[in-house]
Amino acid sequence: RSWDETGLPDSILRLVREVARYAAPSPIQMAAIPLGLARRDLIGLAETGSGKTAAFVLPLLVHIAACPPLAGARTADGPYGLVLAPTRELAQQIEAEASRFAGPLGLRVASVVGGLAIEAQGTALRAGAELVVATPGRLVDCLDRRYCVLAQCRFLVLDEADRMVDMGFEPQVRTILEAMPPDSRQPLGGGTAPGAAAAPAPANAAAAATAPG
Ligand code: AMP
Repeated sequence: RSWDETGLPDSILRLVREVARYAAPSPIQMAAIPLGLARRDLIGLAETGSGKTAAFVLPLLVHIAACPPLAGARTADGPYGLVLAPTRELAQQIEAEASRFAGPLGLRVASVVGGLAIEAQGTALRAGAELVVATPGRLVDCLDRRYCVLAQCRFLVLDEADRMVDMGFEPQVRTILEAMPPDSRQPLGGGTAPGAAAAPAPANAAAAATAPG
């Protein structure tokens, strides 16, 4: 397995090799990155430590980098991509992993998580962030306060989606989906079997779940 087989553009491959120093893609990365790059909807199952964060972050950043630059400083300039995670700790780990690649690409990542001052998060959102990593409850608060709009957010990742449902976040996740453009909305729990999730769809959603055991 080689990074060249993933289809990632050279700009990202250079960062993967020189900044992150990941010698070879992990199995979940090899499986998920080509699908993410092709804008296919995807459900991935991989254990913690398998590299699943980079598996969704890298294609996400490729798509976000292709979006027009944000003017910033206008609330209307919401993020192009959103990652939801069940806990602050996980959201901060995702933000850290995303920032390694986003920074050199000139993309800004904001984290919007509970337990920290919401005003500072509102300031970061208003300054402009192409990617937001959030816990559902705090993001709903930010939407209510108009700190953030999702009117142009077309890429969504639900990390540890199973745990978010277990923790009772489904109503908040639905509220967040409703704040996204109508054509990128996906019904939660829609479809028939998990296997159906790899079918082509107009939206760009990815869900990750922790593998049992
Ligand atoms: P994750 O499963 O996403 O929490 O990643 C676990 C750890 O593996 C993180 O510290 C990543 O920075 C690292 N990692 C991700 N992908 C690779 C890779 N292809 N090679 C080596 N380390 C990686």
